[in-house]
Amino acid sequence: MLTTRPRGTNDILPGEVEKWQYLEELVRQVCREYGYGEIRTPLFEHTELFARGVGETTDIVEKEMYTFTDRGHRSLTLRPEGTAATVRAYVENKLYALPQPIKLFYIGPMFRYDRPQAGRYRQFHQFGVEVFGSDSPAIDAEVIAMAMDIYSRVGLQDLELHLNSVGCPDCRPVLREQLRQYFRPQLANLCPNCQGRFEKNPLRILDCKNEKCQVIGRQAPTPLDALCDPCAAHFEQVKSYLDAAGVKYVLNNRLVRGLDYYTRTAFEIMARDIGAQSSVGGGGRYNGLIEECGGPPTPGIGFALGLERILLTAANQGIDFPVNIRPAVFIATVGREVDKQAFELLQQLRRQGIAAEKDYLNRSLKAQMKYAGKLEARLVVILGDEEAARGVVVIRDMQAGTQQEVALGETVAYIKARTAS
Ligand code: AMP
Repeated sequence: MLTTRPRGTNDILPGEVEKWQYLEELVRQVCREYGYGEIRTPLFEHTELFARGVGETTDIVEKEMYTFTDRGHRSLTLRPEGTAATVRAYVENKLYALPQPIKLFYIGPMFRYDRPQAGRYRQFHQFGVEVFGSDSPAIDAEVIAMAMDIYSRVGLQDLELHLNSVGCPDCRPVLREQLRQYFRPQLANLCPNCQGRFEKNPLRILDCKNEKCQVIGRQAPTPLDALCDPCAAHFEQVKSYLDAAGVKYVLNNRLVRGLDYYTRTAFEIMARDIGAQSSVGGGGRYNGLIEECGGPPTPGIGFALGLERILLTAANQGIDFPVNIRPAVFIATVGREVDKQAFELLQQLRRQGIAAEKDYLNRSLKAQMKYAGKLEARLVVILGDEEAARGVVVIRDMQAGTQQEVALGETVAYIKARTAS
């Protein structure tokens, strides 16, 4: 136990972490362009927030939460997703009093007691955005276009954007009743999960992965058929904004998504190459949620992308990220006397923003050169007693295999010029 991490968690090591940093920087850049400000909420919240904000009948709340009682006997839960906490922060900090809409993003770890497999973990990372205070279909199109923009800048291909509308509190009760009528004669043949969903949330039966439930549900009424006029008009507008922006989508009238609070637009992005866990992101509108969480009636919409799944898809598609962890310079020394001089030079280079490294194991010059090669340093500065006495260093270009003497006082300027190119 001491030397194994908990099931479903990962260590992200140097070599791999640079890809994460690249991806994180990419999404931050997209957020700057789209005008989204970062929000950082606690990693744990009162359990009640998720029960209310994610929904009692969801898989997350029913079976996947990391819930614990703290020493003050409060029930707390490690956040399984980012929307509920962002809504809580919007209400608690009265962000509704500011000019609307409020456009926020978050990035960080989420925790779910899921069954681990490739692309599915118990601690995983999401990037997500939430927009509060606008019901405009243009905002729906904006968040969807933004998600697709991120995938395309990563270089992912063959993604499918599935789009649906799940209606609103006016039209959904009608659909629910239609669904109950449709499924009632077959109730005993549905999977145990769906038997439970039948009363509480029959829409969820539509996207059950169980084959039998899918067969039974083949002719079931779907959300798009049941939309009220305002919802249908809203959906038409969302589609026309997406068309205007050239964002391609497939209509999927079975897509209801796992969370209870969705209204109107629901979407999910699927990748073909990552096996069973094909969803690389998804989101939707949740116009009732903010009020449900104690705020003023406020429309909202958001999405979340799984960073592990994006990296996995990128790896499967052979995408290389432009990451560079090579030091520009390695300082090799001959003789102990010059070691302090080497250290001083090292620091001067670093202060100039040049990544520099030296030996810390008293290696021989030959071993230092080999080590510098392993680190893939571009230049090696060789500092020996004899050179030090003459006030020079030897600088070796590792790729070209050439070397030349440079006056010690000129070394930093010389390296700066060489590494700038
Ligand atoms: P959700 O919050 O369930 O809509 O998930 C949004 C995205 O987060 C999904 O499309 C996945 O990319 C990712 N995701 C959800 N659950 C997991 C998990 N257990 N492990 C890794 N990624 C996940």
